[in-house]
Amino acid sequence: MAKQKPRISFEYFPPKTAEGKSKLLEKTSPALLELEPDFFSVTYGAGGSTRDNTFGTVAGLRELGADVAPHLSFGGDDEAAITELLDRYQALGVKRLVALRGDIPSGMGGLGQLVYANELVEFVRKHSGDYFHIEVAAYPEIHPQADSYDADVYYLKKKLDAGADSAITQYFYNVESYFYFLDQCSAAGIDKPIYAGIMPITNFPNLARFSRNCGAEIPRWICQRIEGYGQDQESIRKFGIEIVSQLCQTLLESGAPGIHFYTMNQLEPTRTIRNNLGL
Ligand code: FAD
Repeated sequence: MAKQKPRISFEYFPPKTAEGKSKLLEKTSPALLELEPDFFSVTYGAGGSTRDNTFGTVAGLRELGADVAPHLSFGGDDEAAITELLDRYQALGVKRLVALRGDIPSGMGGLGQLVYANELVEFVRKHSGDYFHIEVAAYPEIHPQADSYDADVYYLKKKLDAGADSAITQYFYNVESYFYFLDQCSAAGIDKPIYAGIMPITNFPNLARFSRNCGAEIPRWICQRIEGYGQDQESIRKFGIEIVSQLCQTLLESGAPGIHFYTMNQLEPTRTIRNNLGL
């Protein structure tokens, strides 16, 4: 039987400035569209902090003819605000969503309330029926607030059972963590696709800091190699492309259903890594 083409998607965050937005929509996106991704996704600041920017970025991508999955979470929004957003997305022809609990951004004090992603999925299904293809988040190295490994798998199943169609993982560099996670999910009765989230290496100090917070491990050998390059940015760039391309290649050869690239709104190195896969 012919192997199914892997699904490829590219994630953005909504740019804060007009300059960032025009770069994203006029330069980066047309170039990434040439790679024929299945869709783009646009993150959402929990607490509704990027509601308009996320919507504007999604609308801009729709004008380019792209399939887009806005991320969504309750955060500080009430049900009326979420239903309005769902209807506006539907009117734009958006057919996908990434449903999340989100995190309360620091600086919001006691504002905003976290609503588990399974409840948001239920809410969307109740309001919009089967219209949207809904993705949820999954954590091969386990969500930092999870009570246990099994509890996190249990709650992933709960989100999928509530009506989500598939999941996208937090980024990881340990390929074994992903395949072990798939086995555990399968043993728990999950039979929906779990796409691998991949973070190309751009700004290493930022990546290292962010990874500590979100519970993604950067293997010691990668840290050692990068630290050894010191300020030699060209060597870091080349090494990052090499190891992330290898990671993606191994994932696809070993049966991952597709890859979701956390682009950080940069054309490179995502484009080069995607091209290295020779799909
Ligand atoms: P949930 O699935 O609700 O889980 C949160 C935690 O609670 C987990 O520890 C879980 O084990 C536990 N849990 C889940 N359900 C229950 C329940 N019913 N009862 C008790 N415990 C439960 N963040 C943003 O702010 N904006 C974004 O756009 C964004 N996009 C993301 C995209 C992807 C693909 C990924 C992987 C993450 C993204 N995040 C985003 C980060 C995400 O919001 C955080 O990781 C957040 O802390 C958890 O969100 P979740 O949807 O996974 O939460």
